[in-house]
Amino acid sequence: MALEEEKKETSPGEATYRETENDLRQARSALLNILDDTEMARRIAVEEKNKTLAIIQNFSDAILVFDENNILELANPLAEEYLDEKKENLVGKRVDEFLALPKTKMLMQLLEVSEGSPIKQLFRKEFMASPNFYLEVTSVMLIIDSKLKGTLLVLHDITREKNIEKMKTEFVSISAHQLRTPLSAIKWTLRMVLDQDIGAITPEQKDILEKSYLSNERMINLVNDLLNVTRIEEGRFLSKPEPVQIEELIQSVVDNMQEEAKKRKISLSFTKAGRSLLPIVKLDKEKMKLTLDNLVTNALKYNNNGKNGRVEVFVKENSEKELQVEIKDNGLGIPEGQQSRIFTKFFRGENVVRMEVDGSGLGLYTAKNVVEAHGGKIWFESEEGKGTTFYLTLPIPQS
Ligand code: ADP
Repeated sequence: MALEEEKKETSPGEATYRETENDLRQARSALLNILDDTEMARRIAVEEKNKTLAIIQNFSDAILVFDENNILELANPLAEEYLDEKKENLVGKRVDEFLALPKTKMLMQLLEVSEGSPIKQLFRKEFMASPNFYLEVTSVMLIIDSKLKGTLLVLHDITREKNIEKMKTEFVSISAHQLRTPLSAIKWTLRMVLDQDIGAITPEQKDILEKSYLSNERMINLVNDLLNVTRIEEGRFLSKPEPVQIEELIQSVVDNMQEEAKKRKISLSFTKAGRSLLPIVKLDKEKMKLTLDNLVTNALKYNNNGKNGRVEVFVKENSEKELQVEIKDNGLGIPEGQQSRIFTKFFRGENVVRMEVDGSGLGLYTAKNVVEAHGGKIWFESEEGKGTTFYLTLPIPQS
């Protein structure tokens, strides 16, 4: 018995050794666990990275990623295809070096790229990358932890939409042209009958024919509006600009409208700020007249007929760089919920359609295009029931 107890007893040295061995074993297994976790985290990170890369590589839009120094870090296969350049020629280049590449020149100009400047933020801006190949570009700043880490460019192919749009425009243009001839023939025939050139007509017949004549005029106006829109969309709307004294042009528009204003019992005035003549501006006179005509007509049409209706036209030199024209009315106003659609094609306010049947909803779309094609801006302020003011600016040529 004494012998057995003696066998089980361990010496103090041996106990310390066992403890150390135990500690080491635990530390080893903890270390292995940490290594396992790290390996797992690494594998997950690699998997995530591969997944992100696979998404970028197979994305249906071209993707280009620039780092914070505007050096291209990544370009997916579609970017190579759209820009017609191998990745090796793109990645590693600074953004302003892309200006030298023929296919990217236009894109870089849109992004206002120059050496050392940041890439401009754009949202769905269209451009023609090559003949009959249209792209839409969006550029987004990559901000991580409030720091700019680079810029992402997304290029989306819109050639198909552009071609459909072109076909539609051509269709409308051809139809409108075809409609013009018979409408003119009807106009002149009715005029002859109304003027009693081909025989006397009774007052009753005259009344009916007068109404037909006006309806035909409305149709001619609509066809002309449609033709203007198709010309805008085909990019061949403005003819060569000529020097114009704007106050003379506005005065003639206002003079032509006085009769209509009187008929509607609305006062129509024109005021020019200052005594001296305004600087000459360069305009496509006919199109600008059409625009001013439309804005003044609208101010008269969408007014409180006979109830203190007022339309005031002003012009002034805003700065050395631009003139500003204002067309102010105290009429129906534009409903707040519809104001964002005012310059879109065929838009007509819900507060006007029932009271004023005459209108195509194409005038303001055309006006915006005309003003912007001259390098100007157009906008408005309106309150329903109180009135509307349209503003437009035109640049003064700097010599
Ligand atoms: P149209 O006058 O032929 O309908 P426009 O493009 O000139 O087409 O105008 C579009 C719409 O904008 C009008 O139908 C009307 O609802 C609104 N609008 C334009 N000008 C005014 C105005 N001065 N006051 C109130 N509504 C206006």
